[in-house]
Amino acid sequence: MSQPQLLYQLQQIDTEFQEKRQRLGEVLRAQKETEELLAARKQMETAVATLRRWQSRHKTLTLELQSVTDKAKRSEQRLYSGSVKNPKELADLEHEIAALGRRRAALEDDILEAMLEVESAQAEHDQAAAQLTAVTAQWEKSQASLKKEQHELALRLNALNEQRQHHLPRLAPERLVEYEQLRQKKGGLAVAGLQQTMCLGCRLTVPANKVKEAQEGRLVYCPSCGRLIVPI
Ligand SMILES: [Zn+2]
Repeated sequence: MSQPQLLYQLQQIDTEFQEKRQRLGEVLRAQKETEELLAARKQMETAVATLRRWQSRHKTLTLELQSVTDKAKRSEQRLYSGSVKNPKELADLEHEIAALGRRRAALEDDILEAMLEVESAQAEHDQAAAQLTAVTAQWEKSQASLKKEQHELALRLNALNEQRQHHLPRLAPERLVEYEQLRQKKGGLAVAGLQQTMCLGCRLTVPANKVKEAQEGRLVYCPSCGRLIVPI
């Protein structure tokens, strides 16, 4: 195999290596939690906090109602027991019972409101939980395919690297130096295929005499883009 052909093969290896490495970077970056997942989790946290707040409010109100009810009951017992004779004390007791009654009515209203809020928060919580489950499942599925691709890319990159190592000793050192320099200057593509008379590096036509020389296995450079051209 001629040196230009060997260089063309090296270029094929390096081009694929570059593409696969770039894709590997994308795959690694994609294995992060998505905006959608973060949003669903945030919504769930908010729903849980809201539900807990209303449950706790409901409980506090219920306990307070119990305490007010007990207190009113004790005062009523005292009022009707006949043990209190002093008119001022009796009047105070009646006032206290009336005040406790008003407090109880207000508490019952608040408890009803809290119950409705708990119900609504529970519904929002259930919806957020379902959404989070669905988004998580979808994300995990995409992660599985990304993991698989990552593994395949790593294997391929490793194989290309080995291929390159086997390939290098077949090239003259000065050719290799020139190849690396040209690759740096030409955006990673030092060797372009020559398809009939078209340079695949710049897609322009190469003069007939150059095409002929390339076909003879000589080192020929595209007059337009400067890349080494090899018939394919
Ligand atoms: Zn060209």
